[in-house]
Amino acid sequence: VVRVGTPDRSVVTTCAYCGVGCTFRAEMRGEQLVRMVPWKEGKANRGHSCVKGRFAWGYANHQERVRNPMIRERIDQPWREVSWGEAFAYAASEIRRIQAQYGRDSVGGITSSRCTNEETFLVQKLVRAGFGNNNVDTCARVCHSPTGYGLKTTFGTSAGTQDFDSVMASDVILIIGANPTDGHPVFASRMKQRLRQGARLIVVDPRRIDMVRTPHIEAEHHLPLRPGTNVAVLTAMAHVIVTEQLANEAFIRERCDWDEYQHWAEFVANPRNSPEALQPVTTVDPQELRAAARLYATGGNGAIYYGLGVTEHSQGSSTVMAIANLAMATGNIGRPGVGVNPLRGQNNVQGACDMGSFPHELSGYRHISDGETRSLFEADWGVTLDPEPGLRIPNMLDAAVEGTFKALYIQGEDILQSDPNTKHVSAGLAAMECVIVHDLFLNETANYAHIFLPGSTFLEKDGTFTNAERRIQPVRKVMRPLNGLADWEVTMGLANALDLGWDYAHPSEIMDEIARLTPSFAGVSFARLDALGSMQWPATAETPDGTPVMHIDGFVRGKGKFVVTDYIPTDEKTGPRFPLLLTTGRILSQYNVGAQTRRTENVAWHPEDLLEMHPVDAEDRGMKDGDWARLASRAGETTLRVKITDRVAPGVVYTTFHHPATQANVITTDYSDWATNCPEYKVTAVQVAPSNGP
Ligand code: SF4
Repeated sequence: VVRVGTPDRSVVTTCAYCGVGCTFRAEMRGEQLVRMVPWKEGKANRGHSCVKGRFAWGYANHQERVRNPMIRERIDQPWREVSWGEAFAYAASEIRRIQAQYGRDSVGGITSSRCTNEETFLVQKLVRAGFGNNNVDTCARVCHSPTGYGLKTTFGTSAGTQDFDSVMASDVILIIGANPTDGHPVFASRMKQRLRQGARLIVVDPRRIDMVRTPHIEAEHHLPLRPGTNVAVLTAMAHVIVTEQLANEAFIRERCDWDEYQHWAEFVANPRNSPEALQPVTTVDPQELRAAARLYATGGNGAIYYGLGVTEHSQGSSTVMAIANLAMATGNIGRPGVGVNPLRGQNNVQGACDMGSFPHELSGYRHISDGETRSLFEADWGVTLDPEPGLRIPNMLDAAVEGTFKALYIQGEDILQSDPNTKHVSAGLAAMECVIVHDLFLNETANYAHIFLPGSTFLEKDGTFTNAERRIQPVRKVMRPLNGLADWEVTMGLANALDLGWDYAHPSEIMDEIARLTPSFAGVSFARLDALGSMQWPATAETPDGTPVMHIDGFVRGKGKFVVTDYIPTDEKTGPRFPLLLTTGRILSQYNVGAQTRRTENVAWHPEDLLEMHPVDAEDRGMKDGDWARLASRAGETTLRVKITDRVAPGVVYTTFHHPATQANVITTDYSDWATNCPEYKVTAVQVAPSNGP
């Protein structure tokens, strides 16, 4: 007897939520997904999962999935369903019309960290080879672009140094600007396992995250810094390490540029960079900071893990480099248990960056101005590439408002909800003549779209994702695409309507092309991935099975580079009108702007974003738990309920950004990282006042 819901086959694939990259067995009955079972062989998760990966796939069959392409000439017109052929032809004719009228550089594209490596590679290829410019960017712009810049500059490659297993060899774990319990739950469990075995913990975070005190784990040092002062805290830690002669000079002399180290050491040793001198800036107890620095430098294998609390600042790239400086100064690089480890947010943000999604880089982080690299691609693609870097997302929007940028192909990102300064994003989109949205649902950005191309979920396609530990993992088709085409086929349809003549029969052929053109992927193929289960790049002739720990014998760039990172305060200031600092984060059960998790049946999904506020600040305003509050910044305002808690310090408020009703990015400012334009989501001066509700 076969019970309803009893699976009759299973397919091993990879979770499409966060950068941990858990693998699952998707158990199927016919075309119906019955359940997702975490896979014991999965090297990233070893049979574990969180609530999102296990239960939040229901959106794949949600009634709001768009099944057919749609077009409309103007955004005030109703949508008209069309065939794929008509949609591709219309999109291509609009792109060519706009380029003829406004110039080659008036169009661009955005790749998605939610899509596979192969799909991302095709979008950037479409822009470079089909649109004829480098106006391609990715949603990593708003999260980990400073990681790309900072680690490329200091170590020579834009990726974390360790595999997840490495944490089991750590003696000291330093978490800064990350909340692993909520953001990367399965890796957090591994970290907790090591902490319960006796590793010591330092947390640098404005908020008392769970890891500070959780059953059987207590951080030895929690440095509750004022939001926006990461660089000052890290500089003060470096001051202690250098002035107390705790630096690992043997490592530095052998592995790093000694002159640059001396220049940096002289800078951090300046008395103005001591914990005491910087205390008015950081608000961190100098003795606690000194003790944390000593522990990191002398406690054995020291590993640093960081997240968006590091990158989403006007000094995001400086903070990443300040972290790299600390690791090099203490010799905590190049073996298990140490390293600098960005906890990537989205499932394939590492991969999207690897695949050449930035306007200045081809795949493998090679600059577009490099003629040798360009000629490799030109010979393979049969085109001439523009040597000039293209526009970043914020520059595309600026140019649209100015009237010189007119068409945008957006794959899998709701920029109206996820990018900063919603008013500016909507003004940019409204000024374009052709917005092509390629997504699962009619998202907020689609309100400004002229062409909607329905997307496919991770369950409906083959390909690969690359997780936070550089692990390339198979994504395998579990069911047929609801709309008839996988995302890579949609991009290929668009390319061929532009006469590019692509003829990929399967994503494995796209990976073969990636491997052919990208040295760090030289040994990667679907056949190798099927044989090994996964591979961590670089996978080359010398390291055919991949590389769990990087920079073992030398840095990718040769000598490690120390960079002076002076603390420069953000231009976002508190004052009498906006006296509090708002910072933001996630909760375990929701994912980003909630497009998927909100469309999954489960009572665990929290129904609204809350504003955390310290009891002292609440009392000042006569507010109590559950009251409605009006949250206003210089950019805009919103309404949400208050949760009174001493997890945040007086003067700091905190919220999540999962629900469209909150519109958290109406509040955030235009300030961004000096090197990469990553928005400063984590520091906004606000006022909070009682409200009667939305
Ligand atoms: Fe998916 Fe991340 Fe949860 Fe793993 S930890 S199941 S990758 S959301």
